Amino acid sequence: MAEIPKVQTVALVREIGGPVEFPTDYPVPTPGNNEVLAKILYTGVCLSDLHTKDAVAAGPDGIPITRFKLPHIGGHEGVGRIVGLGPGCGSDLSLGTLVGIRFASRVCRRCEYCLAGTEQYCLKGTNHLHHEDGSFQEYIALDADYLTILPDDVDPKVMAPVLCAGITAYKGVLGANIRAGHWLAVIGAGGGLGHMAVQYAKVLGAQVIGIDAPDKRDFVLGLGATEFVDFVNTDPVQRVREITGLGAHSAVVTAGSTKAFSHACEMLRTGGTLSCVGMPPGTAKFETPICAIVIKALKIVGSVVGSMSELMEAVELTRRGLVRPQIQVRPFKDLPHVYEEMEKGTLKGRIVLEVSSS
Ligand SMILES: [Zn+2]
Ligand SMILES: [Zn+2]
Repeated sequence: MAEIPKVQTVALVREIGGPVEFPTDYPVPTPGNNEVLAKILYTGVCLSDLHTKDAVAAGPDGIPITRFKLPHIGGHEGVGRIVGLGPGCGSDLSLGTLVGIRFASRVCRRCEYCLAGTEQYCLKGTNHLHHEDGSFQEYIALDADYLTILPDDVDPKVMAPVLCAGITAYKGVLGANIRAGHWLAVIGAGGGLGHMAVQYAKVLGAQVIGIDAPDKRDFVLGLGATEFVDFVNTDPVQRVREITGLGAHSAVVTAGSTKAFSHACEMLRTGGTLSCVGMPPGTAKFETPICAIVIKALKIVGSVVGSMSELMEAVELTRRGLVRPQIQVRPFKDLPHVYEEMEKGTLKGRIVLEVSSS
């Protein structure tokens, strides 16, 4: 294995709201006790990277995110290989192993949420978006005890989006509580999360109605959606009612617009479930009247990424070719342009940056 350099190229944001710079002299981390050093091959770009660097993201109840690390290095859906083992790493870890870089970086394993297998909500948890440098760098130190070990027989660039978009969409579809044959509406079906949600819902037996702008029609139907609804030129609520009769059994909102959430509630039949995974920037509020939620007996659930065990289920679905992330690979330094395209909302599927070629 090649020698590990002392410095590396990273995508750095010095101040919140500042530009992305690519310094070439950022230190390569030294793996500490029970840490591995991984060389990053590919990383996906998530909308929350864009929102976080511009500080339009907020924590629960609109509370600003605390312990935010500056300068900031984003990226939380990376795939790399172990190139170094810190002191105390178990003998089950070896150089060359394919690993994932996810949103969560460390968990305590002792709090109520960790013990319940929902460690993504760990009370002492840290993540690669706010607290630690993420996958927009060539080398990263990772906690060996909370390491995402990937199967060896996968294409790292295709697996990268599963690490955030995939698990988030998968958990959103699980939360929608569907059964085979149910109508499930995916709002934002052509986007990074949405195009994965369409496929997970298909695998679980749902009839999917993909909702997005008209230029995404062929893309969404190509993913296996039963119907496509163009929300620009038609009334999406009326169309979903026409297709389903009573309304959809469930809706997964992967879009980041407030209106999408109220539309979703209107599309649901009585007793339906709304699963929220998209996040409008800032402190956007629900616009649905409470009486509508009561009278229609709606269930509204939210989720953030998913647990390690749910991630491994999502990884397996892609390894077996049942869910195929649709990716466009770009050079690492294209990140600022990718952010511009994300703001326009015109991207189909997921952008994956090539950080290093081997
Ligand atoms: Zn993400
Ligand atoms: Zn915990």
